[in-house]
Amino acid sequence: RVDGKIIDGREISRQIKEEVKQEVERLKSEGCTPGLAVILVGDDPASASYVGSKERTVQALGMHSEVIRMESSTSEGELLGEISRLNDDPAIHGILVQLPLPAQIDEQRIISAITPEKDVDGFHPVNAGKLMAGLDGFVPCTPLGIMVLLERSGVDLKGKHAVVVGRSNIVGKPMSMLLLQKDATVTVCHSKTADLPAITKQADILVAAVGREAMIGREHVKEGCVVIDVGINRGEDGKLHGDVDFEAVLPVVSKITPVPRGVGPMTIAMLMANTVESAKKTCGSQNN
Ligand code: NDP
Repeated sequence: RVDGKIIDGREISRQIKEEVKQEVERLKSEGCTPGLAVILVGDDPASASYVGSKERTVQALGMHSEVIRMESSTSEGELLGEISRLNDDPAIHGILVQLPLPAQIDEQRIISAITPEKDVDGFHPVNAGKLMAGLDGFVPCTPLGIMVLLERSGVDLKGKHAVVVGRSNIVGKPMSMLLLQKDATVTVCHSKTADLPAITKQADILVAAVGREAMIGREHVKEGCVVIDVGINRGEDGKLHGDVDFEAVLPVVSKITPVPRGVGPMTIAMLMANTVESAKKTCGSQNN
């Protein structure tokens, strides 16, 4: 019974990657190899590890991978120069700058320098605007991956009350737009929200994207709720924990994503999917 409640993000991400791999093979047979460039500035170990796993996944799916490692003393101008080169490189269909960046570099300026057509992270203001307007553009990988998890787990969103806790540009805001597009009634909560449990308890679908271990407990969740846990927190035990007190809410939820192996693996899978989508558009236009 408990097994049926758990949304297996690792398995669903495996399916997505398999589908992407087949699409890559098809594109390659037509003379187009999707390419992703990842820029890492500095030597933050967590960032280096994320970049490493992106590089391995790109290669495993048969795509072209370029990783640019730059010194932590890199100037904004040097980084902008690298982005400009990649914007013009026809072998590259997706450009990702690993965040956070060192203090001397303005993150927003860097994000805005990536051409929106190659912004597979979906962070460029043009892509954020397109999402808001319901136009076709790149959608940030984590919320996009959550939509795939919900869809493949048979969760119907129409007319349901979805509550999103967190309003970042990377997760909370795009998440709420995507849920709205699928006809959910959406409430967005944040650090200034008064009486959070009173609101989250109304949720048919609850998305927690805060970054505080176990902040969502039994008192936040109504019977039958679908809980999506985006949080990644390193606990005192050295292990990864979500924003949700998994054990406490498990008896009452209808479905839940675990941490790890829930939302996390989907992010990288959707990055691959976005890169292939980008390649499909450019390769198609080059043939015309
Ligand atoms: P941010 O720190 O950018 O945003 C956190 C949000 O939580 C803010 O909107 C903040 O509100 C809100 N918040 C903080 N405290 C409370 C509170 N007590 N009650 C209600 N809301 C609160 O984080 P991100 O959105 O980037 O990431 C959120 C979590 O998701 C992190 O743990 C991160 O590691 C994880 N993450 C996981 C990914 C994955 O692949 N699984 C990908 C990206 C992130 P306010 O705006 O008012 O400050």
